[in-house]
Amino acid sequence: MLESYQKMLEKAKTKSGENKKFLEKLKQKKPADLDLLTHTLHDKAFENIDCLQCANCCKTAGPLLLDKDISRLAAHFRKTPAEFTSQYVKIDEDADYIFKTLPCPFLLSDHYCSVYESRPNACREFPHTSQRNIYQKLKITYFNTMICPAVAEVVEGLKKAYPSA
Ligand code: SF4
Ligand code: SF4
Repeated sequence: MLESYQKMLEKAKTKSGENKKFLEKLKQKKPADLDLLTHTLHDKAFENIDCLQCANCCKTAGPLLLDKDISRLAAHFRKTPAEFTSQYVKIDEDADYIFKTLPCPFLLSDHYCSVYESRPNACREFPHTSQRNIYQKLKITYFNTMICPAVAEVVEGLKKAYPSA
């Protein structure tokens, strides 16, 4: 990961208490323009942040897997879902399906995804800051400030936009 991204994540970790409180209040207030503003901040953040210079989500978080994700990935490898699961998938402490290993087994050394067309839905949606009804995702957004430099930037922007939240 680029050093500048690492620094953004370190800063977010030092501000984790402040960010948590802010996002909890924001969820209660639910401003009418929250989606619009978050999407604008998301686009702005990704103008300067290149996922291929980062890959921190694929290295340290990994997606939750739905049945349809497992079926799609199994088909990608011409395996049955049971074969794919036995090789790559485990159940975590919350009874969710996740990959057995981190970094993700499908992350290449140049940070490209080797199963991009068949990647899990959670990978397609990450880091969620371009999705609708973002107020429902502020808890995960809090955790993602410490994983994704773009989310750290978005939350800094939200704090400036809603200083009284
Ligand atoms: S989505 Fe965020 S954490 Fe993942 S590679 Fe892109 S910038 Fe990094
Ligand atoms: S499937 Fe692809 S996008 Fe998803 S975590 Fe693995 S490498 Fe990253």
